[in-house]
Amino acid sequence: MPKRIPTHKILSVMLLCLLVSNPLDAWGWSAEAHRAIALIAMNRLQGTHTATRVQALLGKLTLDQIATCPDEVRELQAKEIKQLDTFCAQVFPKPMTINTEPWHFVNTPVQNGVLTTDSAAVTAACAGNCAITQIAKFEKVLQAPTTARNKQAQLQALSFVVHFIGDIHQPLHAAERDGDLGGNKEIVSFFGTDQNAGQPIKLHAIWDNQIVFRIDPTDTALATDLQPEIDQAAQEPPSQPMDWAIQSFGYAAGVAYVGIAPPGSADSATLGQPYQDAAAPVVRIQIARAGVRLAAALESCLP
Ligand SMILES: [Zn+2]
Repeated sequence: MPKRIPTHKILSVMLLCLLVSNPLDAWGWSAEAHRAIALIAMNRLQGTHTATRVQALLGKLTLDQIATCPDEVRELQAKEIKQLDTFCAQVFPKPMTINTEPWHFVNTPVQNGVLTTDSAAVTAACAGNCAITQIAKFEKVLQAPTTARNKQAQLQALSFVVHFIGDIHQPLHAAERDGDLGGNKEIVSFFGTDQNAGQPIKLHAIWDNQIVFRIDPTDTALATDLQPEIDQAAQEPPSQPMDWAIQSFGYAAGVAYVGIAPPGSADSATLGQPYQDAAAPVVRIQIARAGVRLAAALESCLP
């Protein structure tokens, strides 16, 4: 007679599968937001020499397909996933040995009631290994003439630039409070739910996922609906990754952390429509800016 597997074992395996398919310790905008940012940039570049050069690096792939690969690379390194998806496996056919996790953010400390930061504080938080330094590093790779030898490295650089320009526009990728890793230690309830796939909901994750999803459930709808914000972003003067980090920090200190008790407090924050209403305009303009600024960065790297 076959040995019966106890129900609790089956349940824990099912839960594990759910967790693997829904990585909860996300370190970046959701796939939806990253793809929308790539779509916005490519829309803006349509018909340009830059678009032709980007497509030459992509081959049969599209920019939105490779926008999330750096998250997959990090998840593979952390053993949160077993393999990259079919698109990302073409960009990163070999596993990366260097730790890529710090490349996704710059966690400048937020102090109570202080809503702004400066380049000195951001540089200290970066410590030479953060989204800002990696954007600059991979832009240099893109600027070099393409040869048979560096084509794969340039495709990877493209994926990193698209992804990290996206990440640095997520306010909780540019700030942390009391060592909470950008809200990754802040447990919240959102619209009456305090669990996602059996895990507590983190403040960081609602900025990555739920707030974006509530604005628009798909990347294509999001990229279209953000047209007013894209027009606004296109009117803003040119800026650099340091400016973007400082701007994102302002939204973290002035919006994301407002009404959230420090980590370890007895009561976790109960967030709902008022929080969504405050956060949504920030998410909208930040995704639009990321797309507009990504297009400008690609134009300057691949003229
Ligand atoms: Zn990321």
